[in-house]
Amino acid sequence: MTDKPQGFDTLQIHAGANPDPATGARQTPIYQSTAYVFRDAEHAAALFNLQEIGYIYSRLTNPTVSALAERINALEGGAGTICCSSGHAAQIMALFPLMGPGRNIVASTRLYGGTVTQFSQTIKRFGWSAKFVDTDDLDAVRAACDDDTRAIFCESIANPGGYITDIPALADIANGAGVPLIVDNTSASAYLCRPIELGATLVVNSTTKYLTGNGTVTGGSVTDSGKFDWTASDKFPSLSEPEPAYHGLAFGPALGPMAFTFHSIAVGLRDLGMTMNPQGAHYTLMGIETLSLRMEKHVANAEKVAEWLEKDSRVEFVTYAGLKSSPYHARMSKICPKGAGAIFTFGLKGGYDACVKLIDNVKLFSHVANLGDTRSLIIHSASTTHRQLNEAQQVAAGAAPNVVRVSIGTEDADDIIADLDQALAKATA
Ligand SMILES: *Cc1c(COP(=O)(O)O)cnc(C)c1O
Repeated sequence: MTDKPQGFDTLQIHAGANPDPATGARQTPIYQSTAYVFRDAEHAAALFNLQEIGYIYSRLTNPTVSALAERINALEGGAGTICCSSGHAAQIMALFPLMGPGRNIVASTRLYGGTVTQFSQTIKRFGWSAKFVDTDDLDAVRAACDDDTRAIFCESIANPGGYITDIPALADIANGAGVPLIVDNTSASAYLCRPIELGATLVVNSTTKYLTGNGTVTGGSVTDSGKFDWTASDKFPSLSEPEPAYHGLAFGPALGPMAFTFHSIAVGLRDLGMTMNPQGAHYTLMGIETLSLRMEKHVANAEKVAEWLEKDSRVEFVTYAGLKSSPYHARMSKICPKGAGAIFTFGLKGGYDACVKLIDNVKLFSHVANLGDTRSLIIHSASTTHRQLNEAQQVAAGAAPNVVRVSIGTEDADDIIADLDQALAKATA
């Protein structure tokens, strides 16, 4: 045996999953148990003091969920990972130890629609706020960071157009401001993009999408790089000072690179309860074993479909960053050298009406509000997810009335193209 780190294809199958010590079961069992028997009173006390690692109650940790957390941690190259009930739960869990009333985050304008709503509306109830800026304008990002800023938030490959974010540039700005960069890696997955290697402190994933890959369960994860020094300033008292919510334990000084992860379990999951269940973790463990194989095919198909669409006279533009014509193409080599993912938008010359007819005439594509499935998916944002916005807001969000978003699946590329071809014919007849 050598100490050479294992490759991605090996880790996605084996990380976090040894044969079951009790039965030898090779596949990770679904530990459908709420609680775990303590050896004795001393053992119980040691667990509650975080002096010994073990299982107490499944709102905090569960063996099946822990196997998945360890696997995502290995794929993202983190120090620690927690799993949550959804991607949106993961975003709140990532912010929870950092924020307090009056604090803000600086967030990209190019985000998943649900995240825009969560950040612009819902977090206000906690006294938190978000300042949205175009993350291609680095001066604007720098200017938006103030004394109350506690994180910068972006997506690696951003919704809905599949734009690629300059993660190292944002990491530099975050470092200068003394705050972590949080990257939502959902649309890329760890196979295409490794945000921690590019300077991110925290990586969130909606495991609902590519990590599970088959549209069965919702889930999320938060991975901490372990590299941020929470005690370097007084900005992050939950991590640097005695935590009143955990009998005065100072997580940063006591736990170093694991401070964020242990705080997220011992305080975040304990009190917010946005826990992943073991059955859900099982489906995601099944999916993640083939992540790299699926992503290769997603990317190969997306490249073929985007190239075909770009040449079609009925199509006005295609935003896929994997196309040489994309202004984001040059960032691929640095940010996601294996491919620009499989989510992008295209515009139809026929406008809103043609888009609606296209959606109504696809047969292989599914018309759903989801992405990252093995199935090809399509949605017309202006009449669905972005319906509440006025036209100017729709245009700014990359969801103008003539724009369709696709998530290219792993079917035969020829069949995907044939389906678009026949639906475009009907849409523009
Ligand atoms: C789906 C998605 C989310 C939200 O995840 P859920 O699991 O649906 O809560 C967040 N970010 C991105 C980029 C997504 O695609």
